[in-house]
Formats: sequence, structure tokens, C-alpha cells
Amino acid sequence: MTGPALGPDELAAATAADRRAQLEGGLSDVDCRGCGGRVGVKKNSLAHTSIQWTADAARRCPLYTARDGCPELRRSIELAVAEDRLAVASAEPAPRLVPGG
Ligand SMILES: [Zn+2]
Repeated sequence: MTGPALGPDELAAATAADRRAQLEGGLSDVDCRGCGGRVGVKKNSLAHTSIQWTADAARRCPLYTARDGCPELRRSIELAVAEDRLAVASAEPAPRLVPGG
């Protein structure tokens, strides 16, 4: 008895592989605060950002252009980095001020 549907084990394996690919790819979800579209973002360094637009996010965003993406999204990414919600791949650890004592 065989069918096209995945069994629970296969499904779990497929989901795990998905997660692994996402982690290895280093993409994080970032929501555009302007239009609410969700894109995959990887910060390779402070200066270099990879953005993976989905068709849905591009359609939803009124400011999106193929060349420049969305300016609101870029601000959302900067904010996410500033608030430690988005890791920068090659970032040096920020120097911390240790209170004396
Ligand atoms: Zn947008």
C-alpha cells in the first residue's frame, strides 16, 4: 500500500531538512515595516546584505523595485540589526563597556 502522501517520519525529515537549509543559508525573516511583506535576509557584513524577495512580498510592497528593493525594508533591516534581531555574519563582537569594580 503506497501513496503519494508523506508519512510522519518523512514529513519530519523534510521539515528538518528545510530548517537546516534555512540555517545554513543564514536567511532570517524580516518584515518590512512599510508594507508588511516578509523577505529572507542575510547580513554578510555590515555593508553587504542579501535579500531574498518572495513573489508575495514584492507584490505587496508599493515601493518595491527590482533594482532597489524597498527603502522601508532597508530601514527595517537596519533596525533589526541595531536591535540584535538580525545577526551579521562577519561582525566583530561589539566591544562592551564593563563597569569597573
Ligand atoms: Zn516594503
